[in-house]
Amino acid sequence: MMDAPHSLWRATVPEPGSFPALERNLSVDVAIIGGGYTGLSAACHLAEAGASVALVEARSIGFGGSGRNVGLVNAGLWVPPDSVEARLGTPAGTRLNAALAEGPEVVFDLIARHQIRCEAVRNGTLHCAHSAAGLRDLTARFAQQQARGAPVALLDPAQTASRTGTTAYLGALWDGRAGTIQPLAYAQGLARVARQYGAQIFEHSPALAVSRTGDGWSVSTPKGTLRAARLIQATNAYGAGRAGQNPVIPAHFFQLATAPLPVALQSAILSGREGCWDTAPVLTSLRMEASGRLLLGALGNLDGPGRGPHAAWARRKLEKLFPQLRGIGFDHAWTGRIAMTTTHLPCVHSLGPKAVSIFGYSGRGIGPGTVFGRAAAQWALGTGDFPVAITDPAPEPAVALKAAALETGAVLTHLVGARH
Ligand SMILES: Cc1cc2nc3c(=O)[nH]c(=O)nc-3n(C[C@H](O)[C@H](O)[C@H](O)COP(=O)(O)OP(=O)(O)OC[C@H]3O[C@@H](n4cnc5c(N)ncnc54)[C@H](O)[C@@H]3O)c2cc1C
Repeated sequence: MMDAPHSLWRATVPEPGSFPALERNLSVDVAIIGGGYTGLSAACHLAEAGASVALVEARSIGFGGSGRNVGLVNAGLWVPPDSVEARLGTPAGTRLNAALAEGPEVVFDLIARHQIRCEAVRNGTLHCAHSAAGLRDLTARFAQQQARGAPVALLDPAQTASRTGTTAYLGALWDGRAGTIQPLAYAQGLARVARQYGAQIFEHSPALAVSRTGDGWSVSTPKGTLRAARLIQATNAYGAGRAGQNPVIPAHFFQLATAPLPVALQSAILSGREGCWDTAPVLTSLRMEASGRLLLGALGNLDGPGRGPHAAWARRKLEKLFPQLRGIGFDHAWTGRIAMTTTHLPCVHSLGPKAVSIFGYSGRGIGPGTVFGRAAAQWALGTGDFPVAITDPAPEPAVALKAAALETGAVLTHLVGARH
């Protein structure tokens, strides 16, 4: 089976590394399950510090959210910082906000230090107001970020139109810490760096079972077993089989990419190459990539029965935002699963002695996944800890119902939106 078919990122990845399957028994200090940003960042930082580490990935590197996302490297979470502090209490919330505010710095530093070829552009991102209520939300977010010394600016409608190339928005919050990447290329680059430092990486090696053996852990895959003193599970919304499941609500998000646009249009749309998304509850994301393709994304599943309404909406939305693109079709289409938690905050669950599962970035995982992966390395080495408390696993009730409600909401919104 192909991994994430039709993804533009898979078609254009510049460092398409490949790794063998685990076909023997292996003992290491730290075993990692999952080859996305969290697992790979942990592997890089552990191997760089001299630990022996092995990572097993069920499919291929970046098969999950890390190879399918929009590529907006944002600071913090979706939840604004005051709400994070309200939910966790001031000391814990302040700690998490501070750790994730530096997410883009950690990501772009790794990219620069290891010369990862992933189309990195650090010109900030634009959060665009789709309505008066959206503008009020952005104004509140602006005040919260400004109070924390973040390099942010609130743009008026004219400035927003000149930066985005569309008059559809009432304003925008620009965040200068942020930027864009080719997401799969970043994951592949991290895998290359981890291997260079000595990490052993195995693809097509699903963890089928995890068990406690002696004072360590045993991870069984179809053709080999990994033994380790410490275990890091980093499977987020892509848990394959019982060994990788997390209590998350899967929310689908799709993207469509045009062919490279004519040069005149490339310079009229998102000319500063900021990535952007809007304040709508069923949000729209927009960005250009290196060869001048425009990417449009939204909540919804193109691999399910809602494909027709989602795709029809996307064509109309593109023309509504940019009338000059009338008649331009999409070359690539793909969907990914976002790991939502009820609080919209990431979780670190204890799986037993010296074993954790890290998940639940709720749609904001490039910076946070990299930061939590680095924290996992420090936790495993005994030199640091996570920016959230390690808690006992708690089931997420009515997951299927909540996921169906999200998809139904997206389909209905797109059916209505497609008429305009
Ligand atoms: C469509 C979409 C758009 C998004 N846009 C953005 C964005 O613009 N900016 C942003 O910051 N975040 C974004 N996100 C969120 C971000 O992509 C994720 O939070 C992040 O990639 C999570 O990384 P991860 O390493 O924790 O998990 P993943 O990248 O999902 O990796 C988990 C891996 O574990 C593997 N696995 C699962 N079970 C097993 C097993 N049993 N054995 C071995 N391996 C296993 C999977 O195959 C998978 O490769 C988006 C997500 C999606 C889906």
